[in-house]
Amino acid sequence: MYKISKYTRDFIIDDIHIVYNMVSDSVITIAKDIFNIVLQHKDNLGEIKVIHPELFESLLLSKSIIPATNLDETAELIQSWVKEDENPEQIKITIIPTVQCNLRCWYCYENHSTKEVITEETIASIKRFIENTAKRTSIKKLVIDFFGGEPLLCFENCVKPIVLYAQKICKQYSKLLGIAFTTNGVLLTPDKCNFLSNINATTSFQITLDGDEKVHNAVRFLKGGKGTYDIILNNIAYAVSKRLHVSIRFNYTNKNHSSYESTVSKLLAEFRDS
Ligand code: SF4
Repeated sequence: MYKISKYTRDFIIDDIHIVYNMVSDSVITIAKDIFNIVLQHKDNLGEIKVIHPELFESLLLSKSIIPATNLDETAELIQSWVKEDENPEQIKITIIPTVQCNLRCWYCYENHSTKEVITEETIASIKRFIENTAKRTSIKKLVIDFFGGEPLLCFENCVKPIVLYAQKICKQYSKLLGIAFTTNGVLLTPDKCNFLSNINATTSFQITLDGDEKVHNAVRFLKGGKGTYDIILNNIAYAVSKRLHVSIRFNYTNKNHSSYESTVSKLLAEFRDS
């Protein structure tokens, strides 16, 4: 017996069902007529295994459906977060190179002080910490997480030297390397993507949108007021084309959530064939 996970959400765009599961963080796209099989058998999902084995396997692998015996999904999810947080084989170093930002989102809580930029001394300390951590035999993976402000403002003087150093040290001590950025995406230019795609690491970005073009541009704009929607979407497309992992976070309210439909359609059209 199987049931639909309570963490599964289904959206329909252009006759395609986008099925997202929050636990596995996976998305599967299912054509409307195929998805009808799920609807027709929602009270006995196990039957899909016989009718359409590939569909059943996708639903199961993505955790969109789960065994009905799983009674407390929430406890299981929390346990997996705790396990990840307390994973003794992985260490995450969060670096805030600056609190400055090239944007002026109206809701931003940062003070954008021009004085608060990472120093050479701090970068040297971080490098020492990276090496001392990599030497530990219990550590298998090092994750370097850049946050801000806008971390890509300090790409040349902070991100690049730390990433190159971490790559060298991880190779020397046979560790895996992960690099993550929380960025507004405006400065995620092709040259930076090219550089990062050549680093021996799993690299990912979290980039926020605030609605469709009109809504987003009214919220997330450059210092001079220019909107950033097109710049960000183009940069995301390039990053994805270089096989860099991008998570798009949608900030939504009861006023802007419907505006995302056009954005999702645009993204789907962009990535459907890639
Ligand atoms: S992108 Fe982030 S840091 Fe920059 S202004 Fe907007 S909310 Fe603030």
